[in-house]
Amino acid sequence: MTASDTFLAQAAALLGPRGLTSDPDLMTPWLTDWRGRFTGRALALASPASTEEVAGLVKLCAAHGVPIVPQGGNSSMSGGATPDEEGGSLLLSLRRMNAIREVDGEGRKATCEAGVVLQTLHEAVAEAELRFPLTLGGKGTATIGGLISTNAGGGQVLRHGSMRAQVLGIEAVLADGSVFSQLTPLKKDNRGFDLKQLLIGSEGTLGVVTAATLRLLPAVADRVVIWAGLPSLKAARALLLYCEDAIGEAVEQFEVMPQSCLEAVIAYLPDARAPLAEPHAWHALIEVVADRTSADGLRERCETAMAEAFERALVEDATFAASEAQAEAFWLLRESIAPAERARGAAVQHDISVPVERMPEFVEAAVPEIEAAWPGTEAIAFGHLGDGNVHFHVIAPAGTAMSWAAGQGKEISHQVHDLVTRWGGSISAEHGIGQLKRDELARLGDPVALDIMRRVKAALDPAGLLNPGKLI
Ligand SMILES: Cc1cc2nc3c(=O)[nH]c(=O)nc-3n(C[C@H](O)[C@H](O)[C@H](O)COP(=O)(O)OP(=O)(O)OC[C@H]3O[C@@H](n4cnc5c(N)ncnc54)[C@H](O)[C@@H]3O)c2cc1C
Repeated sequence: MTASDTFLAQAAALLGPRGLTSDPDLMTPWLTDWRGRFTGRALALASPASTEEVAGLVKLCAAHGVPIVPQGGNSSMSGGATPDEEGGSLLLSLRRMNAIREVDGEGRKATCEAGVVLQTLHEAVAEAELRFPLTLGGKGTATIGGLISTNAGGGQVLRHGSMRAQVLGIEAVLADGSVFSQLTPLKKDNRGFDLKQLLIGSEGTLGVVTAATLRLLPAVADRVVIWAGLPSLKAARALLLYCEDAIGEAVEQFEVMPQSCLEAVIAYLPDARAPLAEPHAWHALIEVVADRTSADGLRERCETAMAEAFERALVEDATFAASEAQAEAFWLLRESIAPAERARGAAVQHDISVPVERMPEFVEAAVPEIEAAWPGTEAIAFGHLGDGNVHFHVIAPAGTAMSWAAGQGKEISHQVHDLVTRWGGSISAEHGIGQLKRDELARLGDPVALDIMRRVKAALDPAGLLNPGKLI
């Protein structure tokens, strides 16, 4: 019996027949990342059913020196949940731990296990007339544990903040198998470091999240969705600031895209139409929401504000979604940017941020700089303007082979990241570092910050068994 056979036999005894498999057919779908950039191998796929089983398994891994790759829905955009090619790691799926332990309507919080899928949480809390104020395109797949570990965001970060702002408490298994349990939230607690915040965004390198207590808000009673045409990104930012002043906190999402992006989506989606009659250099998709205490007169308030925005020449044209179906059709245009781009061919994607107030200036400088340096490419920026976060994609000349992304595309990414760093920005605004950007973080990150991260990692995981090769 080899050492790994002994380990697998003990793991199987601990987890039972549903908890461990080495069957290639069952493992293969989980060994390649969402974007198909990375494929790895693993000793086995473990699917524990409880925190106790996770703790026992992590202890066993520590005793045998087996590296662990935690995995939720495997929707990471940076290869964070894919093991390396050596095949010596254990893929630890949290998907079986999918119980919503409690929805506390009065306390406006929910406690759920790490494997709960985001959409399932949305549906469960809606029954209690509440909502969890964070959503994203991968909501049918992404799990609470993955969202916490990547500190995920989305359009609603503008108003409610990213996962960091939603997590009230965490339960996690540390590298030695001990259980850090801080699920009961205290509004005020100044007993030193906020350890849950250390785990949020740590991409499975400091602990395995097994459960969390999350903040909830009253359900949305009404929403207004507006499509606006604008002359520039600077004008879009001016409109956002104006809307926040005129309509108040109810501005939930404010997404931007250039005309070329909209045209690519319309060409890609059958039956899609541009919301406005004329082309505009930039477009903004604005969602304003209210709960039942503030829903009265919401639409009128928005109409008055947009009329005033016209008078102040902040907007060239705008239209209000006349029905839920039309609101969904507007959102479909935004959500189809990525698939429309994929249909065009090779491209490299960057999920970047710069200080919010500098974003329009950054995009105006970066787009021509990259296009001039790489003739035939098209650079586009779209997304969450209000957070200073855009998806900056560089599309290869038509007909280029997909392998371009790993060759010249990589050089382009270096240049984009250099540029972002010069502007005081971040090479990962939302999607995390994973294995995709690990070397870029080492190249461009602040040496003092990197040193602190390495020391924290060494303190919490001295043997380096938790998600090795990711983040740092
Ligand atoms: C269509 C689409 C749209 C998306 N849009 C957005 C967006 O707008 N904003 C955004 O931020 N992201 C977005 N994402 C990325 C992705 O959904 C998030 O990164 C999400 O948080 C990943 O969750 P997951 O459960 O799939 O985690 P996985 O992909 O399984 O894992 C992600 C990372 O977390 C670690 N991990 C997973 N579970 C645990 C756990 N329980 N304990 C410790 N570590 C763990 C993994 O090791 C890995 O490093 C999108 C993805 C898709 C497919």
